[in-house]
Amino acid sequence: MSAKILDGKALSKKIMNTLENEAAIFHRKNGRRVGLAVILAGNDAASAVYVKNKISACHEVGIESFEYYFDESVSEQELIDVIACLNNDKNVDGILVQLPLPPHIVQNNVLSKISFKKDADGFLAVNAGNLMLGNPALNACTPSGVIELIKEAGITIAGKEAVVVGRSNIVGKPVALMLLEQNATVIMCHSHTPKLSRFTKLADILVVAAGRKHLIKGDMIKEGAVVIDVGMNRENGTLYGDVEFDSCVKRAGFITPVPGGVGLMTIAMLLKNVLKAAQMYSMD
Ligand code: NDP
Repeated sequence: MSAKILDGKALSKKIMNTLENEAAIFHRKNGRRVGLAVILAGNDAASAVYVKNKISACHEVGIESFEYYFDESVSEQELIDVIACLNNDKNVDGILVQLPLPPHIVQNNVLSKISFKKDADGFLAVNAGNLMLGNPALNACTPSGVIELIKEAGITIAGKEAVVVGRSNIVGKPVALMLLEQNATVIMCHSHTPKLSRFTKLADILVVAAGRKHLIKGDMIKEGAVVIDVGMNRENGTLYGDVEFDSCVKRAGFITPVPGGVGLMTIAMLLKNVLKAAQMYSMD
């Protein structure tokens, strides 16, 4: 048996098309475009590429971008002051601070100043708390992308055993909460989990977000499992997932490739969050 591929490229394109229509409707109704402010501080080359990709995706769907570039030497206060202005700017629906920030800046001192109503990444405590409570929220983008990929394939989550490897605040924990919300029975694993395969073999749905190249091998998964690989591990310019694709594709029922799976969904879900923020809060 060979698994069906969950194609993040095709699904992200489909979502972007829908967003383009919804952004145009918002523009017609409100006389302005949905807006995303992007803040980049420092000279990290990878961050510059990520920001460029996010801005061009904005333009693709008709979302306006407002860009703020700062030197490596920027102070915490300068960033906080810009965020304060953007929080009050009626043309800005979402604010994204590209991470990592320069090392002298305490990340949370800056991020926590973003209004939860403009939290494009869905990282803030209010949004994370609302996810936990099952309330409407701006949710973390990568976990939302994981759920969309599973649903798009027509896979029922309710009643399934889901295992999440990784418990970060931006991927592991929110994806586990989303699977729970969809009525899966969820097990969370992390670096202190002894004999990881004991748990991964139970999974009807396995989400791996550990940041460890090829941590999951074919003999660690259940026959027919849905295997979602969030991992992005770069080695000598090549991108590797946390799942050893060649051995897992033979046993899984569905599997995401790396690249071409979850990664491409993240930007689409970011734009979806910005539109959602505009629809939920622009009249406040
Ligand atoms: P973190 O480093 O913040 O978290 C990694 C998690 O994996 C931790 O909870 C850690 O456990 C756990 N872990 C590490 N090693 C093992 C192991 N051997 N067995 C079991 N659990 C382990 O990473 P992120 O959540 O930010 O990212 C995870 C991966 O996803 C990375 O490769 C990252 O690049 C990628 N990523 C991809 C995105 C995309 O758009 N596709 C977006 C965001 C991330 P503990 O808590 O005990 O330390």
